[in-house]
Amino acid sequence: MITLFFAAGDDNWNQYEGPLILALEKAKISATILTKSPANPETVDYIIYAPVAGALTDFTPYRNVRAVLSLWAGVEKLAPNKTLRQPLCRMVDPGLTEGMVEYVVGHVLRQHLGIDRYIINPNHDWVQKCPPLARERSVGIMGLGTLGTAVTAALRALNFNLSAWGRSPKPDLEMPYFHGADGLEALLSRSEILVTLLPDTPDTRGLLNAQTIAYLPYGAALINPGRGTLIDDVALLAALDQGALSHATLDVFHQEPLPKTHRFWQHPKVTVTPHIAADTRPLTSSRVVVENIRRDQAGLALLHQVDLARGY
Ligand code: NAP
Repeated sequence: MITLFFAAGDDNWNQYEGPLILALEKAKISATILTKSPANPETVDYIIYAPVAGALTDFTPYRNVRAVLSLWAGVEKLAPNKTLRQPLCRMVDPGLTEGMVEYVVGHVLRQHLGIDRYIINPNHDWVQKCPPLARERSVGIMGLGTLGTAVTAALRALNFNLSAWGRSPKPDLEMPYFHGADGLEALLSRSEILVTLLPDTPDTRGLLNAQTIAYLPYGAALINPGRGTLIDDVALLAALDQGALSHATLDVFHQEPLPKTHRFWQHPKVTVTPHIAADTRPLTSSRVVVENIRRDQAGLALLHQVDLARGY
């Protein structure tokens, strides 16, 4: 019998109780599940975690914990926690990935087809200007991890002209791919539509700033469902005001909820979505959590372990 501490808040517990118990039963794992801070933290084997209000911040007393299993894909709030000495696994949830693919494809098609022009047409203008085919539209993906790769596959199926950028070299890719600081200009300068799916780490913060935004083709559109810290908001607003960028669709922000007075809310070239691009789905993510527990109990390596030094 193992002991799990569900440190992800009452609201999440209401959604996860059924799927988690079902997944444990299917895996034939007997577990006691605690939903409040235990009197004796040393009895806990695994922590299931989400950075909700009032979430656990001191992992020191949980000295026998074998792994902290995040329900979130982004672990920027956990990775820098110096009390965390246990292995940390981020969430790679097929349900979340599917949701992200739908969000990105929808917003890329909106920009590619110029759909807004026909939704907001107060003067009933009859301008017959067909959009180019997807094969003639260049889309750049910053971040070719789990989500970037899935998004790329979906956009490829629609024939978009794709390129991507990441941290490490990927020599076997059959698409233009650039990496590291030296490759950023090459990616940006060929991206009429830029999709950013990077984690929040010390190395990614402020990567899109006045200098790098200027590498994008004139009139490019930006879609950011990664993390808000990637972008220098002042530089982005200046580029939109000057016409250098045609539109920004933003799902994530430096501060969330986005303050009601923030210029993004009012700006005609900005679409704000309230961090809804892709949520972890309890049914599929419970299976991922339990599979990791099963693997660990069987002496197998944990899946999706975070490199704490890299921050993702
Ligand atoms: P992932 O599999 O860890 O992939 C991260 C990608 O970013 C990798 O390709 C990595 O490059 C690249 N990268 C990291 N640091 C970099 C740097 N300094 N320079 C260049 N590339 C760098 O993560 P994921 O599952 O795809 O998720 C990406 C992010 O999406 C998450 O961290 C989270 O913040 C965000 N997210 C948002 C939502 C939402 O609802 N808005 C939902 C889920 C996730 P390498 O391939 O070279 O390692």
